[in-house]
Amino acid sequence: MADKRDYYEVLGVAKGASADEIKSAYRKLAMKYHPDRNPDNPEAKEKFTEISEAYEVLSNPEKRQRYDQFGHQGVNFGPGGFDFGRDFSHFQDVDLNDILSSFFGGGGGGFSSFFGGGRQQHRADPNAPRRGDDMTFRLEIDFDEAVFGSERTIDLTLPGQCPECGGSGAAAGSKRVTCKTCGGRGVVIGGGGFFQVRQTCPTCNGEGSVIEKPCRKCRGAGHIATPQQISLKIPAGVDSGSRLRLSGKGGGGLRGGENGDLYVLLSVRDSDIFERDGLDLYVSVPVSPVTAALGGEVAVPTPEGEARLKIPAGTPNGKVFRLRGKGVRSLRGGSPGDLDARIVFEVPANLDRRQKELLEEFAKISRESTYPEAQSFANRSRVFFAHRDKLRK
Ligand SMILES: [Zn+2]
Ligand SMILES: [Zn+2]
Repeated sequence: MADKRDYYEVLGVAKGASADEIKSAYRKLAMKYHPDRNPDNPEAKEKFTEISEAYEVLSNPEKRQRYDQFGHQGVNFGPGGFDFGRDFSHFQDVDLNDILSSFFGGGGGGFSSFFGGGRQQHRADPNAPRRGDDMTFRLEIDFDEAVFGSERTIDLTLPGQCPECGGSGAAAGSKRVTCKTCGGRGVVIGGGGFFQVRQTCPTCNGEGSVIEKPCRKCRGAGHIATPQQISLKIPAGVDSGSRLRLSGKGGGGLRGGENGDLYVLLSVRDSDIFERDGLDLYVSVPVSPVTAALGGEVAVPTPEGEARLKIPAGTPNGKVFRLRGKGVRSLRGGSPGDLDARIVFEVPANLDRRQKELLEEFAKISRESTYPEAQSFANRSRVFFAHRDKLRK
């Protein structure tokens, strides 16, 4: 998170840049770095995603406000951050023409949409309550927490309702009024000469309304950064990508609206013993070649404890034994997954003299048929070389 670049810096604009300056900076950069213009250039693609992300936030008055107040954490992705359910990677698929047309009011709109004949006409009451944002918090948990469940307390800072103004953003006795610059439409017609360009209203940033006198505590945002401690019960059987919902624990509502929900998106750290695929587990069990040759019992770790697995004499390297029902318990109460134990021979190490002698003696009395695979391999090699010699003649 720390190495994430400042969004203003990404677009090369000043902190106080107007909506127009931001849009024009984005437009220039987007045209320069668009993947269509830079095929097979991963750097440009990365850059394009970065500027699109910056623009997505800075072009939206609310998100911009939150970003100014909370930084990347207010609008962000990645472990320990928030996101708003948006995946910026979709920008990669945007056609260049779409980007351009979105700056010029769209193709089908015509004049009526320029002058408020379109969907901008019916603005909601600017003083109506607004529900707080749903927020997503990414949480990394250990493998065993996911398998057995756990309880966690997470510390996070959320945009809580400002106590001073009750989330209205307005100082006492003041309220939101229709923006005079755009007459509540949120857009103005700018540009000159040939083009008429529809622009987000610079006065109200597209909101259509402005606060007469902003609240001093939250500077008109209606939110203030509110540190919170939230206890969380993680049920057994969750996996990477599982999402827990805490209703009403998200961003604070504005003007008396209810709070949004908080989603906790889990990602599970790898275990150093098990590999997991859904409810099934895989484990590699190192076994002495002697045990594999003679047969015997090996200890296999499972989530519920150690299981004893009997392997027959002559067990080949890599052989998988399935332990039914020894995988992960199901979150939804179904039957648990299986555990696949893979037998892996370990080459004996740190041999003393006596052990070496015995192995040498064993080698001496070994026959070709002691190693059937080596025998078959040698045969196949002989056939290969015989063919080669024939072709070379
Ligand atoms: Zn306030
Ligand atoms: Zn306006």
